[in-house]
Amino acid sequence: MSGEFGGKVAVVTGGSLGIGRAVVERLAAGGAAVVFCGLDEESVRAAETQLRDKEHDVTGVVADVTDAAQMNGLVGLAVERHGGLDTVVTCAGIQRYGTVEDTTEELWDEVLGVNLKGVFLVCRAAVPELRRRRGGTIVTMSSVQAFASQDRVAAYTASKSAINGLTRAMALDHAADGIRANVVCPGSVDTPMLRWAADLFRGDTSQDDQVAEWGRAHPLGRVARAEEVAELVAFLAGPRSSFITGAEHRVDGGLLARNPAALPEV
Ligand code: NAD
Repeated sequence: MSGEFGGKVAVVTGGSLGIGRAVVERLAAGGAAVVFCGLDEESVRAAETQLRDKEHDVTGVVADVTDAAQMNGLVGLAVERHGGLDTVVTCAGIQRYGTVEDTTEELWDEVLGVNLKGVFLVCRAAVPELRRRRGGTIVTMSSVQAFASQDRVAAYTASKSAINGLTRAMALDHAADGIRANVVCPGSVDTPMLRWAADLFRGDTSQDDQVAEWGRAHPLGRVARAEEVAELVAFLAGPRSSFITGAEHRVDGGLLARNPAALPEV
């Protein structure tokens, strides 16, 4: 029961890799019992084993965020095992590339299905349980692309902007239930997703060089570590942020602070 999240129960989607994996570890290290899902058995089992080896109370489940029954089951498992639910963090997400012109309906549905409907489904399952405990928190994972888009990410950037809107809506609708909802908007973060993207675009350079180049676009000169995003999530999930709800929080190394129309050298 000790620690910032002692006695608390959390559900984390996309908790087997990347940002979600760091969130699971951060909440569990703070004393929470965490039930998380991922899409593939191998990464779920690996994360569960590694975190249990550190004596964290974690349960990993293979579940698809686009499936309502599986999201009901994920929340149900947390409640059955730990007696209730205090926090939901939605980290499951995918990146795909394309303009509106060359985005197929299948790709659009895939991206919006995982990134947006996936948030809706797990939050819909969780709200009655969060209401029961009062003081519940929802933290959604968006992106700087909710504010400033790259080229050729039409579906992804649409999904991320919509997550920000959905989070505001949940914050308003459930404030009277004592539930707070906030959205986190990272810049580039060193995760399997970023490494996959680096491989797509690196050309003749190495994966590390491509990641470093993206890092140089951030005023702090590097991409984030997943743990740096998890720290903000922990703040928003816990009692230290008790008067913060319906808000967008950037963790982007200053990326969006810069106007890219540079002054000429003098
Ligand atoms: P990642 O690919 O490294 O990990 C994604 C996780 O989501 C994995 O656990 C995977 O199993 C899970 N997942 C994917 N599809 C799923 C599905 N249908 N059902 C259940 N789980 C599923 O990704 P990441 O880089 O850690 O990204 C996490 C979130 O942060 C995403 O929403 C992403 O858009 C966002 N984000 C990432 C970056 C970045 O640079 N890495 C930047 C901004 C925002």
